[in-house]
Amino acid sequence: CLFRVPYLKAKEMVDYIADYLENIRERRVYPGVQPGYLHKLLPKEAPNAPEKWDDIFKDVDEHIMPGLVHWQSPHMHAYFPALTSYPSIMGDMLSSALNVLCFTWASSPAGTELETIAMNWLGKLLGLPDCFLNEKNDSPGGGVIQTTASEATLVSLLAARTRALMELAQLNPDLQSSELLGHLICYCSDQAHSSVEKAGLIGLVRMRYIESDENQSMRGAQLEEAIISDKAKGLVPFWVCATLGTTGSVAFDNLREIGEVCSRHAAWLHVDAAYAGSAFVCPEYRHWLDGVELADSFAFNPSKWLMVNFDCTAMWVRDSTALHRTFNVNPIYLRHENSGKAIDYMLGSEKANLEKNGSTINQIESSKPINGLKPFANTPNDDHITNGDDLYDDGDETDLHGYHQMSGGCGDKIQLENPDKKELLHWQIPLSRRFRALKLWFVLRNYGVSGIQKHIREGVRLAQKFEALVLADQRFEIPQPRNLGMVAFRLRGDNALTERLLKKLNARGYIHAVPACFKGVYVIRFTVTSQRTTNQDILDDWNEIKNVASEILIDVFG
Ligand code: PLP
Repeated sequence: CLFRVPYLKAKEMVDYIADYLENIRERRVYPGVQPGYLHKLLPKEAPNAPEKWDDIFKDVDEHIMPGLVHWQSPHMHAYFPALTSYPSIMGDMLSSALNVLCFTWASSPAGTELETIAMNWLGKLLGLPDCFLNEKNDSPGGGVIQTTASEATLVSLLAARTRALMELAQLNPDLQSSELLGHLICYCSDQAHSSVEKAGLIGLVRMRYIESDENQSMRGAQLEEAIISDKAKGLVPFWVCATLGTTGSVAFDNLREIGEVCSRHAAWLHVDAAYAGSAFVCPEYRHWLDGVELADSFAFNPSKWLMVNFDCTAMWVRDSTALHRTFNVNPIYLRHENSGKAIDYMLGSEKANLEKNGSTINQIESSKPINGLKPFANTPNDDHITNGDDLYDDGDETDLHGYHQMSGGCGDKIQLENPDKKELLHWQIPLSRRFRALKLWFVLRNYGVSGIQKHIREGVRLAQKFEALVLADQRFEIPQPRNLGMVAFRLRGDNALTERLLKKLNARGYIHAVPACFKGVYVIRFTVTSQRTTNQDILDDWNEIKNVASEILIDVFG
């Protein structure tokens, strides 16, 4: 009975899910609960005896649902979209039921192969250059599904860090790895997402923030100026993160200019297109991709706007061996008889590695060797350093653990020789991985290219509609031009007015939005999220905003 009843209830759950989504607009999008509300409603300990499903479901309806933000609601305008869709949910349901782990090819061959196929489809759909695809067995490029954009950024930074450290170690064989690490510096714009800063913190490297221009865009000239001045101080620029579609205002860094600077200074270029990447399925938005052929890695979240539910971050790299040599371990229990003939995503394809005339991952094979590096004479001067300061200045052995773990636990120097040429190769940080390709593949097939393009264009059209309503009301302004599906607007005057407006809107719970602040200007971000949003929803939401604004303005100015 313990197993039979959940089987029947599982079928009911499918109806519950479908009804929830079909009736989503009836729910208040933002909950009216206070911190700690659930602790007061639920027991302090797990039940000793099995409980009935009807009682469990009752608690879901009465206690859990009222405490949720309903992200699929057409009145959800906060953050960026986190959309789902029936094909995606079915993919995730099947994946959860199968619960296969796809870390090596042998652990689930179809899981691995479907991921490669779906990532190639998706890469082509976005118009990415062939160097990022994995269509030939010996291709060093390829795509992998990571959990989040933050993780993709970290993976990219760590791969670039390994590449730079290996090159520096060859030039400075007598220096401790900790001393080499202290010379590295990387860059992003002052508009980059906080996950880029976090990647620098985890990677123990200095990060410099480049001031963006009046359109919140990082430009090549400012980046190059910073790189040249840092090089003059003895620092080694090794990684740059460009953002396509910033979180605050969906601004776009100038990818071509930045790519050319990275090529001149041999820095790894990572592109974070977390939200905006979905828009590149439409050719009319691909002008922002100009220069992408100069990138080393590129990531975006189908889990945001592409209707593939969380988690699903698509990441492509030009040279996957850079990842493999960063995350390289090779325990016997993960080897299999087809190792080297197929991709192992937790591991990777040995083939690319082994076929290069027996060269090993620990030999320097960078496509962009660090230009003009000389052995270090002095430790670098610390001006302009925003994090990672003084982390390794003393060369203390105890500082080395984190780094040595990642470079293969090989002692206190970078190991250049790898005795075991049969190493397996790595694409990610965790070992285990879900069968996420299934939901992506279902969405790509069930909507088709035309259906996905239609969805993106509709989101942009609705944002344009909202923008026109805001612009027609003299009390409001849009300080930055709208890009794609997000409008950043404010009440003219002091920031305090807009802050008050947003607070009141969220407290009323009919719509939900979050703020952003660029260069001292406080704005409300209004993102069109849901594929259920209609013209009428936009009109209703604008009426709600206008009415609340009127109340506030009357209250303040009489
Ligand atoms: N990068 C950008 C530009 C973002 O807007 C976001 C989140 O919205 C992220 C990175 C972080 O995404 P994730 O939650 O997938 O790590």
